[in-house]
Amino acid sequence: MNLGIDLLPPQCDVLVVGAGPAGSAAAITLARAGVDVVLVDHHAFPREKVCGDGLIPDAHRALHRLGVLDEVMAQAQPVTHASLVASRGGRVDLPGTLAVLPRRELDDIVCRAAVRAGARMHAPVRFVAPLEAQGVVVGARLTHGEATREIRCRWLLLASGAVPQALIAAGMARRQSPSGVALRGYLKNESMQGRIDKLEVVWHRAVAPGYGWIFPCRDGVFNIGVGVFDGRDTNLRTLFDAFTRAYPNARDLVDGGRWIGPLKGAPLRTSLEGARFSRPGLLVTGEAAGSTYAFTGEGIGKAMETAMLAAEAVLAGRGHDEASVRAGYEARLAALKPRFALYERANGINRHPWLTDLVIWRGRRSPRVLRRMSGVLDETSNPGQLLSAKGFYRLFTE
Ligand SMILES: Cc1cc2nc3c(=O)[nH]c(=O)nc-3n(C[C@H](O)[C@H](O)[C@H](O)COP(=O)(O)OP(=O)(O)OC[C@H]3O[C@@H](n4cnc5c(N)ncnc54)[C@H](O)[C@@H]3O)c2cc1C
Repeated sequence: MNLGIDLLPPQCDVLVVGAGPAGSAAAITLARAGVDVVLVDHHAFPREKVCGDGLIPDAHRALHRLGVLDEVMAQAQPVTHASLVASRGGRVDLPGTLAVLPRRELDDIVCRAAVRAGARMHAPVRFVAPLEAQGVVVGARLTHGEATREIRCRWLLLASGAVPQALIAAGMARRQSPSGVALRGYLKNESMQGRIDKLEVVWHRAVAPGYGWIFPCRDGVFNIGVGVFDGRDTNLRTLFDAFTRAYPNARDLVDGGRWIGPLKGAPLRTSLEGARFSRPGLLVTGEAAGSTYAFTGEGIGKAMETAMLAAEAVLAGRGHDEASVRAGYEARLAALKPRFALYERANGINRHPWLTDLVIWRGRRSPRVLRRMSGVLDETSNPGQLLSAKGFYRLFTE
């Protein structure tokens, strides 16, 4: 699958930079429509990606559209509920179509599907800079070690994730700093297998202004981590230690468990902010475009969704001028923007963990409130309302 830099063709229709969920989703959509796609990543696949590995309903829907859901679920740990734990220990279980699969495996499945669809995957190959002619991006300069190659393309799709270097090199970064940061590790603890079988998301004063999580993978392995979205410089390691002291399931998991590899941190870019979405010859998609939700930090599904929108805009624009492709893509993203704004607003909960006591207490008592909370998970109800005056009113009247 990983063709080297020496085998790069001199040209293609679409060059996709980054073979994460976004890049591979775009490559699948384009290659299946007969477009000549080259996909590059600066890591050879399979590769690790620092993530919570949780697949929520939007990721299931995107994987289904891409035709790889069965393959993913054959390897994933299926999960039936997300368990929200409030700062005073109250807990509510929300039903949902959920799963956990380490990104090393997930991204490999989606990338292999892109190759099966006809995309050519070259890795390890790093995007260094766009090639331009009269203000239009017409290709890219790529490197590996001492080798440098140039490739010409009609469209360059930047799906390079939350690390901003490629965005900066392409002149597309509006903001270099991330929207949030998170840290995770893998622990093996077979004795906790029956005890933690949901996606546990935990708010606690010790972890404010962030939250902690424990997600069960297969074979007694757990993904455990903490994340913060408030722009301040946070020592995630200190927060992680506080989480494992304050939350009993985290404490027991660590005490009786064995670490598999080191704790690793990574940035997140959220709320469709921080980057320009397009310029002539170039579209930015996935987390590079800020496609991860604030508040929950979930981004795998939305990365694939925005990338499919980019691919659809390219396909819809065949035979038209490049400005119409860009306008089509930007309009598709603009239609998603209000939903991202609601998650940004709901992010207030992370700053005020006492709110979780209130919301979860009500969720335990009212089936309608519980349904609304489940609706946030599968995107049929509005997370921002949890913090609005109307939302508060409904909390106590439903
Ligand atoms: C700790 C943590 C926990 C998270 N937990 C969850 C979760 O449980 N569920 C969820 O849905 N989301 C979660 N997220 C968010 C999720 O990881 C992202 O939303 C998702 O990875 C975005 O996908 P992407 O394809 O846009 O970018 P990535 O997955 O980051 O892929 C980008 C790819 O581009 C490549 N690349 C970058 N620069 C270059 C370059 N110059 N040249 C060539 N290749 C390049 C990278 O190697 C990478 O493979 C979490 C994030 C973090 C940090």
